[in-house]
Order: sequence, then structure tokens, then C-alpha cells
Amino acid sequence: MSGLVGLFAFDSRWNVSRFLYFSLKGVQNRGQETAGLTVSDLSDMRSIRGVGLVEEVLKEREIEKLGGPIGIAAVSADKTVMPFTAKRLAMGFNGCMLDPKDDVQNLFSELSGGTGLGAGNGTGNGKGREIEEIAQVLERRQILGSLVGMGNDCLFAYRDPHGLRPLLKGNLGFDLALISSELGAMDTIGSDFFFDVEPGELCYFNKYGFEKERIKKENPRYCAFEYIYLSRPDNVWNGVHMEDVRYRIGQKMAQENPPDTNNSVVIAVPETARPFANGFSDEAGIPQRLGFESVGRQLRTAIIPSQFERMMGIQLKHNVIRSAVYGKKVYVLDDSVVRGNTMRNTVFWLRKRGAKEVHIRIGSPHLISPCRYGIEVPIRDELIAAHNSEEEIAKVIDADSFAYLSPESVVGCVGLPEKEMCMACMTGEYPFW
Ligand code: SF4
Repeated sequence: MSGLVGLFAFDSRWNVSRFLYFSLKGVQNRGQETAGLTVSDLSDMRSIRGVGLVEEVLKEREIEKLGGPIGIAAVSADKTVMPFTAKRLAMGFNGCMLDPKDDVQNLFSELSGGTGLGAGNGTGNGKGREIEEIAQVLERRQILGSLVGMGNDCLFAYRDPHGLRPLLKGNLGFDLALISSELGAMDTIGSDFFFDVEPGELCYFNKYGFEKERIKKENPRYCAFEYIYLSRPDNVWNGVHMEDVRYRIGQKMAQENPPDTNNSVVIAVPETARPFANGFSDEAGIPQRLGFESVGRQLRTAIIPSQFERMMGIQLKHNVIRSAVYGKKVYVLDDSVVRGNTMRNTVFWLRKRGAKEVHIRIGSPHLISPCRYGIEVPIRDELIAAHNSEEEIAKVIDADSFAYLSPESVVGCVGLPEKEMCMACMTGEYPFW
């Protein structure tokens, strides 16, 4: 998974590099392994890229040396270092190719060699040749996901016809156009307004203005896991607010498995599960307490590759607040469970700090299959839900009870038609290969 940002200033005196930096921090949740940005001063492009968090890779003094009115930036959850760059092209990609014989490097090479990007080919009427050349390259390929790219003097963005991943466009007054994977990247720098880039739509910005072209017919398959877990709760996608979905999920969990309300508390862990806990607590009438304090930086253990890093992530994540849980029946709301390591650790420490009972409620349905479309869900053998019932998982993690929300209920909480969503990692039914 990746987080993408693109900025285009219509006044060439602007320098977008610091805006890019702050926007990129707004999508840090989408990847914590690598970060990078590329800025064009209209004749040359320069990049800073590397392994680490945004603030580790992009140092203020170095960013300030990059000056120019156009730029893109990316973070990645795997070791892919982006933006990809050639002499007159830079690109960030969040997805995969549906054709197994194709890959993103082929796409990048073809865009680089088969278009006049950066050569200033606009005709002056706002409809340059470049958008048509980019459209022709994209039309020939089966892309699943979204991309943001730039030439020396233009910015472009594309979302696949299934709209699998979010991609938004916005603006800051009349001066600055923005593209990003999530609204957080736009809000961070004060964007005024935003829209979804429509599935199958190519957006293009150059000094003459903004153009868009529908190059493939829309056939939606939105990633349901974005609504539950991947996107930040302040994101809005296809008109649906993530926080609203997660609050409804919390309410639904309380309805599907009514909790014992006597001497009970509701606790969110990690902090990203707060909207589920709010809904659960309100629906059940059980008070919510702060049960954990985060120690160290926030790590998303499900998407960190090595066992060592996962273990480090687990140890750094939370410290139990004794007074909130001592002698109580604790209902823990989490947003997902993958391998069960983190959960077992959580239950262990809650009991050690005096919780009388520990009940786990998960805001996503069970994950039983890997994602083939670019999200780092582990292989099936590592997925605890692929081999164990809810009762068995409760035993494995030593909880008094354990429950997921059903896939059907998630569909209802998102509020979009089921046929317009991908839920393959939760159902094993893949909408594409
Ligand atoms: Fe999203 Fe899961 Fe589908 Fe992958 S398999 S696109 S994570 S819903």
C-alpha cells in the first residue's frame, strides 16, 4: 500500500516542497517503510527518497533546497522507494497490474518513452497533447489502483475503472491544485474543497488549467478494508465518512453480541479503534475509559514485514492504565486481527493489571485470504482467522470471548451496494483474478 500526494501551483513563483512534506505526513498511515518527494522547477526535477518515516527521510534543510511549483510525493508500506523518476517523468503508484505479465516498471517506461511529458507540448487551449498521450498508455493497460505523476511542467493523476483505492483532488484557492490518497493530506495544508477522482478518470494540470478525461468505463469495486482500517478516520471517500462507518460498526457489534453491562468498561485499542469503541459504548450504555497509553511511535503491526519488527511494534504499542481496568469486565474494541500476536499480548497485560474478564470485539470481519491487490495482508497460513473459529481464537489469545462483525453487517455499515465493494480478504471471493 502507498500514500500519494501531488501539487501543482499555477503561479510558477510558488515553491511546493514544504507543502508536499506536510501533505505527505497526512498520509503516513498508508506506509511507514519508505518516503520520498520530487519537485520540478519547470526545467529540472530533483528528488529526495529513502527508507524510513517522512520525518526521517525528508529533512527540512534538504527540502528547502528543492524549489519549484510542481511536485509529487509518496510513502510506501513495502520497500518500494518512490517516486519513480526518469529524466522528465516522476510517478507514484498505489496498486498493482491485473495482467500478471505487466508491472509498474513497464508502465513507467512506456509513459517515459512513449509520451512527450515535460516537453511543453500543450497547445495553449488547455487541451494539450500530453493528456491524450498519457490516456493512450493507460487505456492499453489493466491498472488496479491509483497513480500520481508529473512531467517537468504538468501533473496528472489516474484512478482505475474499479476505483479500488481512494484518490481525491482539491484546491487551495485559485493558486494550488492538489491530488492525494486521503483527505488528511489536503486538510493539513488547508485545502478548500475536494472531490473524488472518478473511477476510470484521468486528471491533468498544466499552466493552461485543469483537464479531465474518462478513459475507461466505471465499474466500481471499492476496497472495503479502506473503510474499516486502512484510511484514517477523517478521510471521506465516495461521499462516505470513515468515522461514521466505524461508529456504526461499533453500534452493530453491541447489537449482534450484547455485552454484560454490569461493572464493565469499553476500551479502544489501538487509538485507531476509537470510533468503534464510541459506537459500542453508546449503544450498550457502558462507559468508555482510556485503557492504554501509547509508548513510542504508532506502529501498525499488521503491515510491518519482519517478525522482529512486529515484536518491536507490539512492545512499543501500549501500556495498560491499571485504574481503568482493575476489577472490571473489559470490552476491548480493535479494528482488526491478523496473526493474533498483538491481541494475545494485550489480553495478557490486561489480566496482569487486574481485569476480571477480557472480551475482544473486532470491527472488521475475519481475514481469511491474502489481498492480491497490493495490501500487505499476510499469507493465509499466518492469518489466525483462516484456521480458527471465534471460540478457538478466544482460547488462543486467552480471552473470555472473541467476536468479529459479519461481512454482511460491514456492508450495511458502509452503506454502499455490496456488488460495488471488494471484500476478498474477508470472504475469499476475488472480484478479479
Ligand atoms: Fe481491500 Fe481486502 Fe479487497 Fe485487498 S482483498 S482490495 S484489502 S477488500
